[in-house]
Amino acid sequence: MKYRFEMNKDIIIIGGGITGLTIAYYLKKAGKDFLLLEKQDRVGGVIKTNSENGFVFEEGPNTGVIGNADVVDLFDDLAEKCMLEVASANVNKRLVLKNGKWKPLPMGLWQAISTPLFTTYDKFRILGEPFRKAGNNPHETLDDMVRRRMGNSFLDYAVDPFILGVYAGDPSMLVPKYALPKLYNLEQDYGSFIKGSIKKGFKKKSEEEKKATRNVFSVEGGLSNLVNALTDSIGNENIITGVENIKVKKYNDKPDSVADLSAFDLKSSIKPDSVEDLSAFNKSENFIIKGLVHGKELTINAKKVITTTGAYTLSDMLPFINKSDIQKINSLHYTKVIEVAIGFRQWKGIPLDAFGGLIPHKEKRDILGAMFLSSLLSGRAPEKGALVTVFIGGVRRQDLIGLNDNEIYNLVEREFRDLMQIPEFNPDLLKIIRHNYAIPQYSADSGERFATVQKLENQFPGLIIGGNLRNGIGMADRIKQGKNLANSLM
Ligand SMILES: Cc1cc2nc3c(=O)[nH]c(=O)nc-3n(C[C@H](O)[C@H](O)[C@H](O)COP(=O)(O)OP(=O)(O)OC[C@H]3O[C@@H](n4cnc5c(N)ncnc54)[C@H](O)[C@@H]3O)c2cc1C
Repeated sequence: MKYRFEMNKDIIIIGGGITGLTIAYYLKKAGKDFLLLEKQDRVGGVIKTNSENGFVFEEGPNTGVIGNADVVDLFDDLAEKCMLEVASANVNKRLVLKNGKWKPLPMGLWQAISTPLFTTYDKFRILGEPFRKAGNNPHETLDDMVRRRMGNSFLDYAVDPFILGVYAGDPSMLVPKYALPKLYNLEQDYGSFIKGSIKKGFKKKSEEEKKATRNVFSVEGGLSNLVNALTDSIGNENIITGVENIKVKKYNDKPDSVADLSAFDLKSSIKPDSVEDLSAFNKSENFIIKGLVHGKELTINAKKVITTTGAYTLSDMLPFINKSDIQKINSLHYTKVIEVAIGFRQWKGIPLDAFGGLIPHKEKRDILGAMFLSSLLSGRAPEKGALVTVFIGGVRRQDLIGLNDNEIYNLVEREFRDLMQIPEFNPDLLKIIRHNYAIPQYSADSGERFATVQKLENQFPGLIIGGNLRNGIGMADRIKQGKNLANSLM
């Protein structure tokens, strides 16, 4: 990738995951002057597809949900470079483990009444849910909310496994107002989940709303093809990878030396004599960004800086923000997760005609769940074979994160023999991927975090703090945020 070591740019994007790439894509489309800086030697962030031995597997997210129109619009735009793949009909069947046996998760009210997953008492509670009064505590945790409206067994065998699948989280930590705002709003707007879902179902949808089909998606050939398509459209000249130790300084931060001053306004004809001589400089150049690329110093003047990196990166990156404000952002907890992609050339276990299997915490197993990827997406495993990805760890099983590769292998073997009923465990692919900052947990402190971001953006015009510390954790949320942030700069 080409770059100069000292330059002026209107907009700097920090972080080249799907959020940063989406911003860059729309800025490029609008003809804006921008540059994306990424720490790693590749872009994509946690999105990474690999192929080996006839298997195509993901090292990060596997599938997303078409939860908003922006996902559809982005794929429409990129249609010549990558193809959205909608998961097969197997996606509609989700298994949940109860007493060591897989049961289908109810997909509607009638199934909820007939399933063995919930107690008879709770089935009556579910029927009474529309008549229960709405809660009024915005910081109520998810477990309290679900117990109040639906009952314990619904919490344990529907919500808990769902939350493990999405957040690798703990319902007693997550706050619906922030973590599941659509669910929270159903109760606030309609007084009930069931009433709200029914009423919303009858509401006339706009053309934009119709695009949000909630279908499960990936990309033909793997999610990295979306990253490649975005990168290709953005242009390598607008991306610098391998940028370490990025520090953003405000114009009126005291620079370290007179030499530093030149970077504040390279176009200025006035040459500074001293560090105190700052007033002579063009204040429209708001930020100076410094970093190291392969040991060489990079200095950029920019009017606007957008961060899309995790909350935990910001205290180093934005030293001009006071400690108490930054603390309110980087207190966000990211759970650690181990992802294991497992491939078999010949599958001899249970039928994999489902999205996957979710395992409630109550079942006391060592895996959080399994996704049956070769049953959902094309070309992921050889014919007659299978690709299954399992997840380990999450908020309540951090005790497993320190296991070494051999121990993980043994754990997966033990769980597979039992849960997948395979006679012998000799996979043709077994890849262990460790994520130390996998999924942010939107708990009670989220309101304060969002307010602090807003306050800082007002206090420092030109600074935008994006990324998964706000606006949702899924890929569709990231695409939506990326597009919105780009639009805010038009
Ligand atoms: C294991 C796992 C499974 C998931 N499963 C799903 C799923 O099934 N469905 C779904 O919708 N979502 C899923 N997600 C969530 C989804 O993948 C993420 O929300 C999304 O990819 C995050 O994109 P991002 O660009 O915001 O962040 P990231 O992908 O984390 O990108 C941030 C980028 O910033 C860079 N960076 C960090 N620090 C610096 C620095 N100091 N200087 C410069 N650059 C820096 C990083 O290297 C990275 O490239 C999953 C995530 C994980 C980890």
